[in-house]
Amino acid sequence: MGGYDNTKITSNSDLARLPSRLKMGLGYDVHRFVSGRPLILGGVVIPYQYGLLGHSDADVLTHAVMDAILSAADLPDIGVLFPDTDDKYKGADSVELLRAVMDKVPRNVSIVNISCVVMALKPKLMGYIQSIRERLAGVMGIDKGQINISATTTEGLGITATADEAGGMSASCNVLVRLG
Ligand code: MG
Repeated sequence: MGGYDNTKITSNSDLARLPSRLKMGLGYDVHRFVSGRPLILGGVVIPYQYGLLGHSDADVLTHAVMDAILSAADLPDIGVLFPDTDDKYKGADSVELLRAVMDKVPRNVSIVNISCVVMALKPKLMGYIQSIRERLAGVMGIDKGQINISATTTEGLGITATADEAGGMSASCNVLVRLG
């Protein structure tokens, strides 16, 4: 029995007609604000009165990006790969964990684009978005144009800051990959 997925390759020009498969991945993360820690988002330090609490540096955006990539590549999530019960990852630089994630991604998986939303009432992130895009793209070996980041408040509702509580930040990330 034949199959349309089983493309016959005879000459170089047949390679261009090979079907490429696309897969998407979704990552999501939340961390709580506390005093006395730096705020690190997408590998960039952002001046603020609070930082995010976590076993690693609690970089909520980089965590969402890693989980999205791992999901698209059909690999276990960061909770499995870098457990918060392991002292090795205490205070870990999440950008270095992202580097380790990229090393685990099979060679036939390539990133088409990444789209992220960061949810935070404060601080304002507009002035940092471009540096975050550059930082994360550099680590992943993709162009800055392949990663987009938007930020939104949640109008003081839910997990971001409320009038009487520091709250926290959350990040959601979608990635589209091509399986070559
Ligand atoms: Mg996390």
